[in-house]
Amino acid sequence: MSNEKTRCIVCGSTRIYAIIDGKPYCFKCGSKLVRLHIVKFLSNLKREKLIPSNIEIPEP
Ligand SMILES: [Zn+2]
Repeated sequence: MSNEKTRCIVCGSTRIYAIIDGKPYCFKCGSKLVRLHIVKFLSNLKREKLIPSNIEIPEP
């Protein structure tokens, strides 16, 4: 039997929501990852002083 379903690489869910960096994620893990990316991205901007330092960045 070769009934291999695409599974979320984090939790193993078969309800795939997005492929990020070539890896499948379900909605829960995918949105968590996207949020993490955004927070990281904003932190970098802040560090480079591209956005004002009084802008609050949420914790991932
Ligand atoms: Zn998942």
